[in-house]
Amino acid sequence: MQKLNLRDLPLKGKKVLMRVDFNVPMDSHGHITDDSRIKASLPSIQYALDQGCSLILMSHLGRPKNKEFTLKPCADHLASLLHKPVIFAPESSEKKLAADLKPGEILMLENLRFHPGEENPEAHPEFVKALAELGDYYVNDAFGTAHRNHASTCAIAKYFSGKAAAGFLLEKEIEFLGKMLNHPERPFVGIIGGAKISTKIGALPSLLKKMDVILIGGAMAHTFLKAKKISVGSSLYEEEFVYQAHFLMNESKRLNKSLLLPIDLVITNQAEIKVIDVDEGIPEGWQGVDIGPKTIQMFKNALISAKTVLWNGPLGIFEVEAFATGTKAIAEALADLHATTIVGGGDSLAAIYAAGVADKITHLSTGGGASLEYIEFGTLPGIEALSHSNRSIS
Ligand code: ADP
Ligand code: MG
Repeated sequence: MQKLNLRDLPLKGKKVLMRVDFNVPMDSHGHITDDSRIKASLPSIQYALDQGCSLILMSHLGRPKNKEFTLKPCADHLASLLHKPVIFAPESSEKKLAADLKPGEILMLENLRFHPGEENPEAHPEFVKALAELGDYYVNDAFGTAHRNHASTCAIAKYFSGKAAAGFLLEKEIEFLGKMLNHPERPFVGIIGGAKISTKIGALPSLLKKMDVILIGGAMAHTFLKAKKISVGSSLYEEEFVYQAHFLMNESKRLNKSLLLPIDLVITNQAEIKVIDVDEGIPEGWQGVDIGPKTIQMFKNALISAKTVLWNGPLGIFEVEAFATGTKAIAEALADLHATTIVGGGDSLAAIYAAGVADKITHLSTGGGASLEYIEFGTLPGIEALSHSNRSIS
């Protein structure tokens, strides 16, 4: 893949429209609980400012239905990290504010997903065009959303022929994942959990081909248990992917790979918490919330000899202390390995920080779904959309 890079652009005096990933976790008061994605974008932002351009930053935040997630707290947080003002553009004010922007100044647009055009650019070409008109160059540094075919990650690039470049974070992620994809040291173990079953299960067939062992936990595991005709009570799972879980279990046998599902689970009915063997099934009114102690041991055993590990998706509802044991134990196990360890995904990174082992993980990837899809396809729509260059970035 040969794509233009931020370093290739003559930025001085220009307006640079940069797609960043400020989709950070927040508490119910709108306070940022983990700013690693904002910090990860600082190298590109700082470099661009040092070159004497003005910056227009754009991002999404969450999945707003009623314009409830404003990016204002992220703009303020960025200002405090940079020790300089960041002008915030409420909806509809961006055109004038961008036009008035001077070199060295930063403008942050409101949550792009407030407009339906962000997620559905084909139906809203006027939205894409208006965004594109704000800047002279386009830079994509949002690895976490580079697997989405959205206005600010893909459609916009067509307005920047020869002027659409990768930012440093995107470049770093691609370099790392590309290396791992092409020459993984074996055994290569994958750990897949979390709640976004539909966006992740599609990557599993190709992960199964590339990996030696896959460990399944979190809500993802319930979809597999359902495929084994084990009752899951009121656990989170996705009925329409049960057939795919079935296919994956057969496929793992055919390819002689091990696909390990939890053998015991922590379950709750809100009033009580208990551990059950999975074969018993989860009773009606109870839900699986963490992997059990036998599963923790089984997963640790599977990890001992690993030379490469990729983890996406917490193994339980780790935000609740009582259901964080499995995720924490596996995070600690990863920290002790002599292996290349990669953890990706917003919630997975939060879990790694909560376990206090972030400095013992080889690569913390800002993208969960994006890293899985990159491994699946070897590229992402947001990378493909960028301008061609003669210099390789992966
Ligand atoms: P990432 O952000 O790392 O890609 P996801 O967004 O897919 O991960 O999933 C993270 C969420 O999954 C967390 O909020 C966690 O509470 C949830 N989760 C994990 N295990 C379960 C489970 N057994 N039941 C319900 N939710 C779960
Ligand atoms: Mg998440």
